[in-house]
Amino acid sequence: MGYGENVVEFVSHVCKAYGPRIAGSEGEMNAGEYIYRLMSDFCDEVKKDWFISRPKGFTDYIWITTFLYILGAVLYFMGYWFLTFLLLSLGMAIFILQQCLHYELIDFLFPKTQEFHIVGKIMPKETPKKRILLSAHYDSPYEFPLLGRLRHKAAFIILPLISIVAISALLSITRYYYDVDVIQKPLLVAGTVLLLIVASALRSNRLSIGANDDLAGVGVVLEAGKYISSDRPKNTEVWIVAFAGEEHMRGTKRFVKRHFEELKDAILFNFECPSADYFLIATEEKMFFAKHSPKAVEIAKKACERVKANFKVGSLPFAGSDAANFSRKGLDATTIFGLANDGAPYYWHTLQDTPEKLKPDSISKAVEIAIEIARVVDE
Ligand SMILES: [Zn+2]
Repeated sequence: MGYGENVVEFVSHVCKAYGPRIAGSEGEMNAGEYIYRLMSDFCDEVKKDWFISRPKGFTDYIWITTFLYILGAVLYFMGYWFLTFLLLSLGMAIFILQQCLHYELIDFLFPKTQEFHIVGKIMPKETPKKRILLSAHYDSPYEFPLLGRLRHKAAFIILPLISIVAISALLSITRYYYDVDVIQKPLLVAGTVLLLIVASALRSNRLSIGANDDLAGVGVVLEAGKYISSDRPKNTEVWIVAFAGEEHMRGTKRFVKRHFEELKDAILFNFECPSADYFLIATEEKMFFAKHSPKAVEIAKKACERVKANFKVGSLPFAGSDAANFSRKGLDATTIFGLANDGAPYYWHTLQDTPEKLKPDSISKAVEIAIEIARVVDE
């Protein structure tokens, strides 16, 4: 069997045996134990890296923003314009800090969960002089009805909504000098309606099984790890990492903080959604304000060229990845993101993201890319 078929078999087994793997769930924990056992077969050392976080600070913060906006709108109609300005600005700040930058400003409002990353180390033949991480995440997402259906076109709703909130915040202050009610009042009503639609359609309570996002990515780094341990690099230490808690972005944030010293001279190559039409080597992640390392991008590019992968180099316009938490702290990292021809990952955060839909050929290519990356670095 080829790499691709092995990965599909791994994904099918995990989905069937453990089900969806939402942050902190039993499914995530059990899948993690299984991945730990698999890694123990070919790594020199495997560790569980436990962390605590409050995942709903990422998936449900939008309701706090919505509440602040509606309260602000009501207060405007009552003539408390300055309070409207304050509440709308606060809502915007929460959006940017929680969603884009992953500050945990209002996380205390949400329940705690415990999760673990799995880190397997493969030592080189001779003295280790370099270190790379090949990673993917094994937790799975909620269904995102709005973004899953609209895909990158969701920008046509999100961007106007952000503009409406910003403009009505400014108009609330302007109201002390000019009567702007004729624009402001309809704007506040439109903003309320739009925000309620977005908040309620952002995630449902249904769970995606996350076959392509990103269990297949974990399969890719496991396959690559098996190969690398049988044909080891000369001086490059390779860490195979299955991250937990990517879908709320707090997992790698903890990991980077805890291992910062060891990661300073390492390079992270993260794999996302490898069942794809082509791979995007991400130079930046717009949604998370993260710029990736040119060094990491260059290595990934060389590896893609050598294995003749179908790839592009550029900015990731839609969705995000664990690499953002590395790059924002100045570490060398990039994501090799598998995308469909329309520029979004296949079946992203939908109930259709199942093992049957996976494409073994492109997954196989991702494994080749990962193996080649280790070679390029070792040279
Ligand atoms: Zn993902």
